[in-house]
Amino acid sequence: MATVELKGIGKVYEGGVRAVQDVNLAVADGEFVVLVGPSGCGKSTTLRMVAGLEEITEGSLTIDGRLVNDVPPRDRDIAMVFQNYALYPHMSVRQNLSFGLERRRSYGSAIRRLVDSGYRAKARGEDGEIAARVADAAQTLGITPYLDRKPRALSGGQRQRVAVGRALVRDPKVFLFDEPLSNLDAKLRMETRTELKALHRQTRATMMYVTHDQEEAMTLGDRLVVMKDGVVQQCADPVTIYERPANRFVASFVGTPTMNFIEGEVRGDTFRAPSVELRMDPTGPRVSGPVVLGIRPDRLRPAGAGTGRLRAQLRVLEHLGDRVDLALMLDCGTPLVCRTAPGAHLREGEPIDLDLDPADLHFFAADEQGLRLA
Ligand code: ADP
Repeated sequence: MATVELKGIGKVYEGGVRAVQDVNLAVADGEFVVLVGPSGCGKSTTLRMVAGLEEITEGSLTIDGRLVNDVPPRDRDIAMVFQNYALYPHMSVRQNLSFGLERRRSYGSAIRRLVDSGYRAKARGEDGEIAARVADAAQTLGITPYLDRKPRALSGGQRQRVAVGRALVRDPKVFLFDEPLSNLDAKLRMETRTELKALHRQTRATMMYVTHDQEEAMTLGDRLVVMKDGVVQQCADPVTIYERPANRFVASFVGTPTMNFIEGEVRGDTFRAPSVELRMDPTGPRVSGPVVLGIRPDRLRPAGAGTGRLRAQLRVLEHLGDRVDLALMLDCGTPLVCRTAPGAHLREGEPIDLDLDPADLHFFAADEQGLRLA
């Protein structure tokens, strides 16, 4: 197991495209860190620099305290799992799993053959060890019944498990995952996600994982690195990211449905927008002047007529089984979404009163950066 440290890591591609800027991140031994952000934010480039598949143009990268900027991928003691599995189609699952290990051995054994007369016995011992490792990985990932099949005779989820298994048998210092679940359908993605989480619990290996899916990131990561335009926006555990997003971008990127925003102004202890007047939490942040107020949809609650702090028009009601999403409109024309329990009193086209806890209000600067106001 190992630590990974990125210090001032940046990437400018040939032709001058800046993909990543000044990433500083220390991944602890055994930690599961997820790089997350919209397409093109630089997360894959960052991971590929850790893997050694992309040249690092700025900063320093250390794995277990060793500077590896110029160390080739095979000497970094990492294993990477890709979105497209990258399995050898003509090999069985067993061969796919053992292939990397056998390749590593052949170099060493060529030298040994010259110097070690006991080579044959040793080779048999290594064969036994490789077989044992393959069997262990197959057992861990539940792919033992498929060991003699070719990849084309497996489902997408099974193929991805083989790809993970191939990383597992190598027992690397660091596992790197580049969108490994993106090719799977929604149900399988959730199942495989749970398995990956269990695998991490079991192995306590250091893992870095890239995804554009905020839900996947929230459920998998001990820590999330939220990126935008090549720049880290926030680096924190999932609860902090959700409860205390560092800026408007993080606030809107994480959480479904996305956070509601209302532009307005704070004077004294009250937030005001054209059709909104909200008393603020006296123990909350001291803010004043123009702000953007943020409210999570699940923190808005329908209230009895005339008792809510907000009044809106219920435009569309969407049933999701155990809950409903309400598309609302404030009188000032600002749309809001409320996620709540189903109820007979909810009728499209009618006004609705809403309540909320003042402690659930988020405040952001009204400028483009939109930093959280604390
Ligand atoms: P993500 O993984 O977040 O989708 P990438 O790391 O793949 O983002 O890409 C980050 C930025 O770098 C994008 O603007 C992308 O177009 C650019 N980029 C990626 N690969 C190359 C390349 N080989 N040459 C030039 N630009 C690239």
